[in-house]
Amino acid sequence: MLGDLLANNRRWAEKMEKQTPGFFKQLAAQQKPDYLWIGCSDSRVPANEIVGLMPGELFVHRNIANLVLPTDLNCISVLHYAVEVLQVKHIIVCGHYGCGGVRAALGHQDLGLIDNWLRHLKDIGYTYRDILTMDDEDARVNRLCELNVKQQVANICRTKVVQRAWQQGRELAVHGWIYSIEDGVINDLVVDADDFASIPDIYCVE
Ligand SMILES: [Zn+2]
Repeated sequence: MLGDLLANNRRWAEKMEKQTPGFFKQLAAQQKPDYLWIGCSDSRVPANEIVGLMPGELFVHRNIANLVLPTDLNCISVLHYAVEVLQVKHIIVCGHYGCGGVRAALGHQDLGLIDNWLRHLKDIGYTYRDILTMDDEDARVNRLCELNVKQQVANICRTKVVQRAWQQGRELAVHGWIYSIEDGVINDLVVDADDFASIPDIYCVE
């Protein structure tokens, strides 16, 4: 089975090089993506593929339920590198409907270590408890998937990394999207932010 993957890889590399001679040599010299993608680890949401971008065009960070937490050194380091070194112009948080992490957070099972990660989703669920009142479980899960994306867009705007870029007058926008596993379509949640107006005062850095 693993041998198949390596064989696939050889075929893919040959095809790419055939289509665009010098493709890998050019990529090896530098990466200059315009976009940072923050998505879920779910195997059904492959970042580059669903937005039709080639290697080198999308800087990617994925974790369970696409969370951006200020204490997550991994995610914040990716954000820092993308904004300050790669100078991406767009940060896209892309959640997806039917997210297993979100579903688990709405449940009451003891799942062990991951409960500490899901706790952040529970907090969002609690904040919005008055609108997560639908009888249908899928509807509740999907609504929380959307609310989570909105919260993560806010979390990104509240970081110093993003605010520093805005202070410097740099072009940098944060967007919130949601992907449907059922039909492969991404919907824009229209929660874009590209300046300090989107940040409550207490989170603003001088
Ligand atoms: Zn997910």
